[in-house]
Amino acid sequence: MAQLSIHNPATGALIQTLSADTDASVAAKATSARQAQSAWAQTSLAHRVEIVAKFRAAVVSELETLAATLTAEVGKPISQSRNELNGLLPRLDFFMAQAQAACAPHTVFNEGGMREDIACEPLGVVANISAWNYPWFVGCNVIVPALLMGNSVLYKPSEYAALTGQHIVRLLHTAGVPAHVLQLLIGGGEVGSALLNQRIDGLFFTGSHATGTRIAQTLASRLVKVQLELGGKDPSYVRADADPKTAAESLTDGAMYNTGQSCCSVERIYVHASIHDEFVKHFLATVSAFKMGDPLEAGTYIGAITREPQLAVLQAQVADALAKGATLHCGGKRRAGPGHWFEPTVFTGVNHTMELMREESFGPIIGIQKVSNDEEAVQLMNDTRYGLTAGVYTRDESAARSVLSRVHAGSVYWNCCDRVSPRLPWSGYGDSGIGLTLSTEGIRTFTRPKAWHLRQP
Ligand code: NAD
Repeated sequence: MAQLSIHNPATGALIQTLSADTDASVAAKATSARQAQSAWAQTSLAHRVEIVAKFRAAVVSELETLAATLTAEVGKPISQSRNELNGLLPRLDFFMAQAQAACAPHTVFNEGGMREDIACEPLGVVANISAWNYPWFVGCNVIVPALLMGNSVLYKPSEYAALTGQHIVRLLHTAGVPAHVLQLLIGGGEVGSALLNQRIDGLFFTGSHATGTRIAQTLASRLVKVQLELGGKDPSYVRADADPKTAAESLTDGAMYNTGQSCCSVERIYVHASIHDEFVKHFLATVSAFKMGDPLEAGTYIGAITREPQLAVLQAQVADALAKGATLHCGGKRRAGPGHWFEPTVFTGVNHTMELMREESFGPIIGIQKVSNDEEAVQLMNDTRYGLTAGVYTRDESAARSVLSRVHAGSVYWNCCDRVSPRLPWSGYGDSGIGLTLSTEGIRTFTRPKAWHLRQP
């Protein structure tokens, strides 16, 4: 049987070896998930909500253990692992509170003995192939509403967050989800690929653009519903009227939190020329105070780079920016020693010929570019194949609205960044993906609407 070895990216140490799924075990799990789905769908929504409430309580009571596992396998600073788990709770509350409204049948016409109703049915068997950077968020954004809507779920966590995946499934099973209704698949791309060969009714993916498009191509001829939550190259613009210190402090966090490994990390900053130097001064002062080191230490802000190959991407972006004339203010290199580490890196004097300003970095590295007006900022913000989030810092709300209404992005921010709300849809333009999670729409997406035409005899 194939094995999956889990290493701590902060130290390189082997944490655990798991038995990986095979083509045969994936097929068996898919079959039993299908057999179990209709009985699950016939349970009451109140029963399913009660199970999610028990799951929530278990997350609270095991929070320290769950945070330690997350930090060990992805290298996330422990305070940020706790933040992710605490941040999960309002999402679960939202799903529980909105599930009824999201799927309630409703009458849209009733005249002359003819009634028309819309009712939601579960999709059936939902597959979730997930990423490692926020495994509790991206996993539960799919698993929890899919279960609430009466689907069975085949969940393949990232091979870099498999222990967290085990915890999620264990806690949901203990809370009352039947074993065959939610099944865990352990392994890397080959197990994800085996999952695509099964009879599934929806594929919900979070990960890179390259993998997402491959999955969409594989499933296209079978007309399976596909949702893809992919990468970003998220811009933020600091207008001349913004406070440079406040904006710099907010944007350092937006760029470097989770060691820059967030789909909605700030990856490009445009600053009006009149406040550029002041902004950069505050930005560098904030970055220099960030503590990089043992992710288990309370004050650590910059953790490890989870995937070793990403170090080469970051090094290549640095080399390309330097070769094209950018100014490096700090960082720019790996930290020596065991594990995968990259120093917080800040460039100015950048432009859009540089990879740093065009391709997702997914690390603690940022380019700051001078602009002379709103038009130039909007043009540069839209000069990307991605469109996940975008922000603007200004005292002028109408100017912010004018800029943000012209920016191609699924989520837009005024005087904030790197923020996700369970109440709002999470989606992207262009290569950032198709479909959405969160909001009531992100619950309903795990159902199919059925049209009822009802004539009284
Ligand atoms: P990835 O594409 O390398 O892997 C994602 C998942 O796909 C993993 O579970 C992996 O095992 C699986 N996989 C790999 N090859 C496969 C194949 N051929 N068939 C089926 N499954 C396969 O991405 P990652 O490194 O886990 O995640 C990082 C990316 O995810 C970044 O681009 C980030 O921006 C993006 N992301 C997006 C969001 C969002 O909400 N838009 C959230 C988190 C992460």
